[in-house]
Amino acid sequence: MIDLRYIDEFRDKELIHKLIRDIRRFSGREYNFMEVCGGHTMAIHKYGIPSLLPENINLLSGPGCPVCVTDKNFIDRAIAYSRMKEVIITSYGDLLRVPGSYSSLEKEKAEGRDIRTVYSLLEALKIAKENPASQVVFLGIGFETTAPATAVGILEAQKHNISNFQVLSAHKVMPPAMNAIVEEGVRLDGYICPGHVSTITGKSIYEHIPEKYGLACVIAGFEPTDILQTILMLLKQIEEKRPTVEIQYKRAVKAEGNTKAQDYLDEVFTSRADYWRGLGKIMNSGLAIREEYRDFDAEYTIPVDVTSIQDDTACICGEILKGLKNPVDCKLFNTTCTPVNPVGACMVSSEGACQAYYKYKRNEVN
Ligand code: SF4
Repeated sequence: MIDLRYIDEFRDKELIHKLIRDIRRFSGREYNFMEVCGGHTMAIHKYGIPSLLPENINLLSGPGCPVCVTDKNFIDRAIAYSRMKEVIITSYGDLLRVPGSYSSLEKEKAEGRDIRTVYSLLEALKIAKENPASQVVFLGIGFETTAPATAVGILEAQKHNISNFQVLSAHKVMPPAMNAIVEEGVRLDGYICPGHVSTITGKSIYEHIPEKYGLACVIAGFEPTDILQTILMLLKQIEEKRPTVEIQYKRAVKAEGNTKAQDYLDEVFTSRADYWRGLGKIMNSGLAIREEYRDFDAEYTIPVDVTSIQDDTACICGEILKGLKNPVDCKLFNTTCTPVNPVGACMVSSEGACQAYYKYKRNEVN
């Protein structure tokens, strides 16, 4: 297998043709591979990968978009904070448009609440320093990729005594959700494992998957050749009956991951059960701030009671996140629900499956 390292190789026509020929060799049975990274979902549809594959190979989108899996109760809680006096909410942009039970942060901002989009956690810290009379709440979402930065922010706040900086954590870890999907009975043959998450974690977090469930696992990059090569590697693992964890994305992922970032994660966070939009409560899938750092934990320092309502029943985001349905199976897709007027989180996020279908496939289905 070629070790893809140079830009010329990423979209090399000859190499793509060869990979497709090799993949087409695997006929005779159906294969279901799930990607659990929003970046992969976008890349797969942007480059039209499904149209290059034989019909017996299905790519399913899983719960890899951090905005999509953020529970409604988290949004409701953030909205409740935003309505308090002397509270400034800081958040990455996509989250503002995610519908809560009755409102969204975007609507609240339009009503005059102090809600600010930031591009890094350091900006949120700066806002806290500049506004000592306010509590600055940073909305921490995302997987093992973004959680270390939040951990560093909390350590910085402690070091510099920025006591008005708080984090509301919805950070999550990926493996328990991957287990939950298999245990729910979704028929999979392998996982296209997330590239960015794996730069932090390395490969060990997936090793139980081939052992326990017999599924092939390959950590993939984001270019067309990366994805096709990953599919071929998965097929070969199955053909040779040797399910394991392999790294295709070698130019970015080391087997041991980023141990420094892992140390920051372990220092500040501990695992807890958490709610995933569409998947429900999953044990040990969330990251709570450790007791030692409670002064920076909004859940502890600014208690608030919120009651959330269930998702709109017409929105099938939950089934899409489990790989059971496609966005085009939703009757609201591209009618009531569009990126301008999203009904569910999968249409809000630039990494959501519904938005990927809307961007790259809606003309094929309407
Ligand atoms: Fe939900 Fe909209 Fe996707 Fe339908 S198209 S599943 S309503 S986000």
